Amino acid sequence: MQALLLEQHNGQTHARLCAISADDLPAGEVTVEVDWSGINYKDALAITGKGKVVRQFPMVPGIDFAGRVLHSSDPRFHQGQSVILTGWGVGENHWGGLAGLARVKADWLVAMPEGLDSRKAMIIGTAGFTAMLCVMALEEGGVTPQSGEILVTGASGGVGSTAVALLHALGYRVCAMTGRNSTHPLLQQLGAQMIIGRETLSADTRPLEKQRWAGAIDTVGGKVLANLLTQIHYGGVVAACGLAGGTDLPASVMPFILRNVRLQGIDSVNFPGVARANVWKRLVKNLPASFYPLAGHEVTLAQVVEAAQDLLANRIAGRTLVKIR
Ligand code: NDP
Repeated sequence: MQALLLEQHNGQTHARLCAISADDLPAGEVTVEVDWSGINYKDALAITGKGKVVRQFPMVPGIDFAGRVLHSSDPRFHQGQSVILTGWGVGENHWGGLAGLARVKADWLVAMPEGLDSRKAMIIGTAGFTAMLCVMALEEGGVTPQSGEILVTGASGGVGSTAVALLHALGYRVCAMTGRNSTHPLLQQLGAQMIIGRETLSADTRPLEKQRWAGAIDTVGGKVLANLLTQIHYGGVVAACGLAGGTDLPASVMPFILRNVRLQGIDSVNFPGVARANVWKRLVKNLPASFYPLAGHEVTLAQVVEAAQDLLANRIAGRTLVKIR
């Protein structure tokens, strides 16, 4: 079977396509024939070597995949069953989805929900799963469509574009923040009623600004996250999941102590296994059929390295899914 293999020589990461056999796979109860994988921000960092994502080499990257069970020693899964994997450090410290076969722990897998197939599951992928967790965080914080407008940052990316589509489908008014004029038509088709430029939230601001957003889903971090916090309504919620713009947070406590603003961190990697099926059910229920052809474009395993470079250079909108077989 073919796999993308990452190796490290003299501190540099090298990616190459190679043939590996089932005997090379790591230990695990379930062996899966991978049909589709995806390229997430973290995959792009791993494949290009621009981020310290991979903990041991050689490594097959790919933090998510969907496919069919080839063999299972765990009674929860049977041969031929369609399954999805996201997170759990797969593609970081355990061989991942950018290969024809993967072997993983049964606890890490989710049975394919009704209404989804492997291709659609990877159009959603880790990015869409994370977007759903962000939307659920707003709901849990009491933010409803009647509360006011929701801001989504990094809106043209995988997480952002799925968040725009989900919020719109749920009846929220969505404002998309993007650094690219070229993605405005896509964002409007996904359901953004308003679009603002990245520079709007990149300037120096006061600790509290005019209250503008009932909630926000932030994939960017840094100054953008600090600035949007100053504009959140009294009692509003911000779900922060990303660092595309930086890992720092140059913010003041004022929005928290004077406006009761809630900043909710979102992690999809170690999100509890038992609760994952429900998140996938919500995605199937809430994403409209029109989302899938709009949000995903395909590449082959041989095109993954170039696609990863494009993603980090901000030349890709929506999700990149990888056709494995
Ligand atoms: P993408 O690359 O698909 O999207 C990121 C988007 O961020 C880009 O499309 C761009 O949107 C915007 N962006 C890029 N560079 C900058 C910059 N320098 N300053 C401001 N905005 C920028 O990545 P994903 O959607 O896959 O992931 C988004 C973020 O979420 C990443 O940081 C990723 O690590 C994180 N993430 C976290 C997860 C978790 O569990 N917490 C899970 C999945 C992702 P535009 O052009 O519209 O401005």
